[in-house]
Formats: sequence, C-alpha cells, structure tokens
Amino acid sequence: MAPIRPLRLKSERVQKNTGAIASDQSCVEVIVDTGVFHLDKSFTYLVPESFSEICATGTRVQVPFNGRELEGFVLKRFSSETTAGLKALTKVLTPFPVASEKSLALMLRVAQQWAAHPYDVIRSAIPPRIASVDKKQWELPAHSSQSANSVAEYLQLPPCENPYVVLRRFVRDVHKGGSVLILLPDTRSLQRLHTEFPEAIVLDSQLERTVRYENFLKAKYSLGNIVIGTRSAIFADIQDLERIVIVDEGSESFYEPRTPGWNVRDVALIRAEMESVPISFMGYSPSVEIGFLLEEKKVAYRSISARLRVDSFQPEYSELLPGKLIKEIKSSLKSGAVLVIAPRKGYAQGIQCAKCRNVALCDCGGRLAKASEASSIECSLCALVRKDWSCAWCKGTTPYLVTRGSARFAHEIGKAIPGVLISSSEGDHILDDFSVTEGIVVATPGAAPYVAQGYSAVVFLEAESLLSQAD
Ligand SMILES: [Zn+2]
Ligand SMILES: [Zn+2]
Repeated sequence: MAPIRPLRLKSERVQKNTGAIASDQSCVEVIVDTGVFHLDKSFTYLVPESFSEICATGTRVQVPFNGRELEGFVLKRFSSETTAGLKALTKVLTPFPVASEKSLALMLRVAQQWAAHPYDVIRSAIPPRIASVDKKQWELPAHSSQSANSVAEYLQLPPCENPYVVLRRFVRDVHKGGSVLILLPDTRSLQRLHTEFPEAIVLDSQLERTVRYENFLKAKYSLGNIVIGTRSAIFADIQDLERIVIVDEGSESFYEPRTPGWNVRDVALIRAEMESVPISFMGYSPSVEIGFLLEEKKVAYRSISARLRVDSFQPEYSELLPGKLIKEIKSSLKSGAVLVIAPRKGYAQGIQCAKCRNVALCDCGGRLAKASEASSIECSLCALVRKDWSCAWCKGTTPYLVTRGSARFAHEIGKAIPGVLISSSEGDHILDDFSVTEGIVVATPGAAPYVAQGYSAVVFLEAESLLSQAD
C-alpha cells in the first residue's frame, strides 16, 4: 500500500473588509516607500469613508503593496469613475499633513533631477514619525501669502568681524515678518548661531528624534520664524518663507553623502525659483559653481572692501619657526590672544634617520611616528612601540622628525616664548568657544575657538600645505 501523505494545506488571507469607500473624492495618489528603485511612480488607492475627513495631500498613510504593508505619502486626492480593482489604503498614520503640496513638489523635482526614487529624497526631507508628537494639536494659523521674486545674491563676509554677528545683523534687516530659513554646514556652527538667535527653530539630524520631529512640525505649523538647520533643513516645509540664507555654501557638508547625492546649493536654487523667494549665499569666497552663476549674471555679487596687513616669513636656516615671526607674535600678544593654525594635528607623523635620511618603517610596512615629545617612536599602523629604534640602513640611532603636527609647534613656540599660556584645539578636542582670553591658541583648520575680543593676530604655519585642504 502506498504511504499516506499528509494533506497539503494552502493558506490564504481573507480580504479585510475595509468598509465603505468615501463618497466624495474617493481616490488618492500615493507615493509608496517600495524600496525598489524602478517603482518610482505613484499608485492609486481608495479612501475608506472612516478616513475621509483626515486623508489629505501630505498625510502619511499605510497601504497594502504586493502582500506587504508600506508607508507612503498622499500626493493628491481626487474623484474617479473607474475604481474597479483598486485597493483601499489601510491606515492614515498622521492625521494631519506632514508635507504641503509645494514641499512635495520640490521633493519630486529633486528626485527627478538626480534620477532617484522620490522616497530617497523624502527620507532625508521628512523626519521619521513619532506617535507622541503626532498626538499634539498641529494647526496652521491663518496667513496671507506674499509673493516676492527669486533674486539670488552672493554676500562676501567682512574679515576681522564675527560672521555670526554679521549674519544676525543681516537677518534682522531682511526679516519682514515672514520666516527666514538659514542653513549652516555643521552642528558646531549651528549651535554658535543659535546663541545669536535663541528663539530660532533648530533642525538638525544630531537632535534627539522626538525634538527633531517636533521642531520640523513647529516650523511647518507656525509663522514668522527664524529656522536654522543643517543640510536636510533645506526641505523644511515653511508656509511663509521669506528668504533662504546659505552660509559657507561651498562646504562639502552640504552634499548629501547617500544616494542620490543632492546638494544644498542646487536644491536651494530650485526651491527659490519654485516658491519665488530671494536667496542669499554668504561666505568668504564663492565656490566654483557660484562663480559660474556670477559670471552668467544669475547671481548678484555684493563684495566688501577691507584692508588686512599680511606678512610672509620665510625660514632662513630651515628653522621650525622664523625668528622674525616670534618677534611679531610677542608684540601681538600684548593686545590679545594670537591664533596659530597648524596644518596637521599630532606631533611628528613621520621619522627619518638623521644621518642617511632613510624613512623609518616598521616591519609591517607602516610609517613610524611620534605622538608627543615624551612618547616613544611607534608604528602608525600596528602600534608596535620601538623604544630602541635604529636605522635599518646605516644603524644610526638619531631620529629626525618630519611632517610636524600642532603638538610639535606648540612645543617649539613654548620654548621660543617662555611663560606664555598655550592652549591647543584640534579634531577630537576642540576648545569651547570663549574659554580662551589670552595667550596663544594652536589649532588645526576648522578647530579654532572663538575669543570674545577677537584675535590680535593669526599665524598660518606651513601655509602652502593649507592650500591642499579639502574644505
Ligand atoms: Zn640611517
Ligand atoms: Zn607596524
């Protein structure tokens, strides 16, 4: 007798009864987070009567899609005669619009320009949903929309003046009652600007998720704000946007590192044109891209003429710090703190033999380096400590330190100007702004702290190597 095989059961989910469909405007066009690159079009769903009142353009919804439940945004709601075969949406996740029609239009336009799935843009533009924030009352006060024209200008920042104070003055001048959106390259400058505008709404991905989502909705559901933020804040949905200000537009932080790699400058120009708002770029020198627009006369240039005393000091006997420079630093110290910019951090990032100038390498092939004056020679790759280093070629035992870092310069300056207070500020240890009032600050590029009175002099060490800095 043939063995008895168990019955094979086929399971099938019973179609959920979604109830009645909305009698008026029964369809919605939804952009769905499919995660599939080529499914970048919108899909049509039916609106159940129970969600009819809250389902509008810009609401976040949950829809059935290929056997899964996915998140999406309503692009528009409309009436249609042919509803056969359409599925109904499952849930309205946020009972109010999270994005307005014009902000969705901007996201779609950016997605189109960078050939991306719209959700790749939406994901960076709209923070993830937090249910407790959604439960609060979000309603936009009545307002009249003024139309302006989308003029673009580049404002050169004056030297020797605190850029944040200049920015505050500028914003106070142009702020006419609507909202101003200011974009900065990083969290550090954002916090710095926040002290100038304590009332501003901050949008930054470094914020706690709840705060970030709440601030995003605050910017959308209130008027007359100053909104300050980093990269993705360029998509902030602001109903009474009056001007966009972009500080340091050439910064690499303004480029989205993930697909599709949009950048703030181009998105801002698109937005300014779509919403007819003026846009101001600010910085010390325009980027190549803005330079091109200046030449094309698409951006107006507002320069500032200022005079600065600049001296160049050449080492005469290949000494680390030219003697004349030390004299200048000493005299500047009488009128305030002096900032010294060293191109690299650390002490010595390379070792050579003092006798034959052979580059000292570890057995693993890594460069040997010295982390501080007191520390011993160490491999930069495998961290093997070489207490009794000798040259592999001539057996010489005197090391010669190459590629000087900030710690080495701080050490040398301390020897040249005894008794002076030297503070150092670099990558992983940036001094707090305003904590320094006197003496010398040795800093790496981008890590210079602010001092209340300003610096009496700024020294660039190995200035030619600063020209090869990325930012
Ligand atoms: Zn040697
Ligand atoms: Zn090694």
